Amino acid sequence: MSERNENIIKPTIADTPEGISGQGFFATSIEKAVGLARKNSLWPLPFATSCCGIEFMATMASTYDLARFGSERLSFSPRQSDLLMVMGTVAKKMGPVLREIYIQMAEPKWVIAVGACASSGGIFDTYSVLQGIDRVIPVDVYVPGCPPRPEQIIDGILKIQELVGNESLRRRNSQAYEDLMKQYNME
Ligand code: SF4
Repeated sequence: MSERNENIIKPTIADTPEGISGQGFFATSIEKAVGLARKNSLWPLPFATSCCGIEFMATMASTYDLARFGSERLSFSPRQSDLLMVMGTVAKKMGPVLREIYIQMAEPKWVIAVGACASSGGIFDTYSVLQGIDRVIPVDVYVPGCPPRPEQIIDGILKIQELVGNESLRRRNSQAYEDLMKQYNME
């Protein structure tokens, strides 16, 4: 095994949630059990428009192997995915398309902006480029870099997993979430 490969952490095993255990039994809350299942079975929808998408391909391939985190099943249908990964420069013309895809995803759903372009427009401070996807959809995690290395993308996935695992089952019905959606003119 090369030195580079040795430095990659493999494989991951899901941590047991907090709970009470004894001989032959383990009890936890439904919220923690649902969080555990959700965070380890995220189905990403790759919205890749340029170079950052190539880094994502490397992240999916054998060396970095995103499948270790339960995310090997990519979905190119918004109705069958719960993690929107936006990777690349997003032109203003694509803004409404991205928004439509986000709206079509079922709740609960999460979003990662991968790389400088998706997060802020990157080096393209021009009339045609969206200066960050959070102008059209809410973003949960931003991954910096131009491009970010696969390790950084994995770090973004781990941060999303942390959010997903700890999210309250009531969050999507809360006033704060409703207000967030209203900011984006979404129901
Ligand atoms: S952040 Fe850099 S690598 Fe990623 S899409 Fe923009 S220009 Fe390309």
